[in-house]
Amino acid sequence: MNKPVQISPLRPRYAEKTPPCILQCPIGTDIRGWITTIAQAEAYNRTNQQVLNLAWQNITDRNPFPAVCGRVCPYPCEAACNRKDKDGSVAVNAMERFVGDFAIANGWKLTRLSQECHAEKIAVVGSGPAGLSCAYQLCRKGYAVTVFEAFSRPGGMLRYGIPGYRLPREVLDAEIQRIVDLGVELKCNLVIGKDISLERLRQDCRAIFIGIGAHKGIKLGIPGEDAANVLTGAEFLNRANSGDAIEVGGKVVVIGGGDTAIDAARVCRRLGAAVTILYRRTRAEMPAIARETDAAIDEGVSIEFLTAPTEVLRNEGKTQGLKCLRMELGDSDASGRPKPMPIIGSEFEIEAATVIAAISQEPEVDRIDEMRESAGWLQADEWGATREEGIYAGGDDLALALVATAINQGRLAAQAIDAYVRSADRTRTVAHPEANNVIADWHMESERHERPRLPVEQRDMNAEIESGLQESEVIEEAQRCMSCGMCMDCESCWTYCTNNCFVRLPKGEHYSIKLELCNGCKKCAEGCPTGYLELI
Ligand code: FAD
Repeated sequence: MNKPVQISPLRPRYAEKTPPCILQCPIGTDIRGWITTIAQAEAYNRTNQQVLNLAWQNITDRNPFPAVCGRVCPYPCEAACNRKDKDGSVAVNAMERFVGDFAIANGWKLTRLSQECHAEKIAVVGSGPAGLSCAYQLCRKGYAVTVFEAFSRPGGMLRYGIPGYRLPREVLDAEIQRIVDLGVELKCNLVIGKDISLERLRQDCRAIFIGIGAHKGIKLGIPGEDAANVLTGAEFLNRANSGDAIEVGGKVVVIGGGDTAIDAARVCRRLGAAVTILYRRTRAEMPAIARETDAAIDEGVSIEFLTAPTEVLRNEGKTQGLKCLRMELGDSDASGRPKPMPIIGSEFEIEAATVIAAISQEPEVDRIDEMRESAGWLQADEWGATREEGIYAGGDDLALALVATAINQGRLAAQAIDAYVRSADRTRTVAHPEANNVIADWHMESERHERPRLPVEQRDMNAEIESGLQESEVIEEAQRCMSCGMCMDCESCWTYCTNNCFVRLPKGEHYSIKLELCNGCKKCAEGCPTGYLELI
């Protein structure tokens, strides 16, 4: 055989890259993996039921709450999607919700990793997403795990913070029940640090995970705040989500710019009040999830930006309104956001029958005083290990974050607890470099599937605002994924190569490359739409 004429010394090789969606997912879910599995149903001769089950197993390896996250996650994965500037990001969150709901409808059960049972008992304090994620991961590794929960029902802020019109309780209950069915023991109405001491748990258990969240609403620190009808956002939402009948009156002012402020305002709208949110910076700095802020505005919540309260106005101990000041933005503060500065002489008053201070929350660490750090928050390393041997922590008690962050921290702590109990090393998989060499033009234009939303006039306290995609839409949406950084069996390399370097392997294994036939023409790598093939 004649030796091919050498064009360049470069040679192709397959090298997996990490797609931006996975890099941005707080849980590091294998988004590309489960979506490609759905997309390739036909190619691999699998039914929709089979690929959806494989996708669900893939997701629940790291996240036992796909139906929850498919509703409340702000999906940073989609903001990073390489398809975003072509014809819209792949609708990852809507597909995750579909997979989660499909699993509930089909009664799929979580399974243990092996039948091995360890003698060591583990205690988890708090049944929010951090605690339940940690309990799930430890239970599937064979540990006897008991979750202690202060409230009467499990779920943490998923139940007592996020309202039912965003997260239906039957969905939450179903995903929690599956963790209990796996073998996690759940004990509600038990406050650690009051009903049972942390010390007692330490004696009974080999390790403890603390996921107590941050349920103490921070006060405004202005005169008149002790008036009746001044509530913190956490307190108000807890009562509303517990089914308490709350009288808020005709006008409500909510202070804050985060998710708690937005949810409190939307609940008050549903109670019939006219609602104004005061936020001391501008829309650009608001930490609340943007689509939820938009929904609040659609529902009639008005927002006064660059405004801060200075006093609660009272009459006979009851709230009448607020004295406020207009603000302007100055230089950046410690949080990196521009600092709001009061404008002298801009005072004005606003009427309110109820004031809700939703500026922030902190953990109720006084119950477990021995874990208190100087700032009142718990502190832990990246694996959740605290300064106390055998005690781990994660979720909002370390810093306010997202449901997905809490799930991930619970998962990492479970790995660390397993390693601690077994005296083994902790292992973390090393991420591949980012897939940024993707040819979006290789793909045909294809419209993104959006979730239908309930018209504003039909929205109430419990009706879910967003409904899910149809099964056929999920299959189509999955086919929009560009499989960034991984082979998707498109055959481009094999097609472009004129020297027959690419040899087909059995389905799923892609190709091997006969480098001795390669002349370095580079066409295979330059034409690889996923960036999986590179030149060295
Ligand atoms: P939590 O969910 O707070 O759970 C902690 C649990 O510990 C609670 O059940 C508590 O009762 C229990 N506990 C506390 N002390 C004790 C004790 N001493 N003994 C026993 N049990 C104890 N995130 C998103 O990603 N998307 C959203 O849309 C979103 N919306 C939000 C809306 C609101 C109103 C709020 C408040 C938060 C929202 N978040 C959202 C944030 C998200 O809910 C939290 O980041 C997440 O719930 C934190 O999980 P966690 O397990 O750390 O704590």
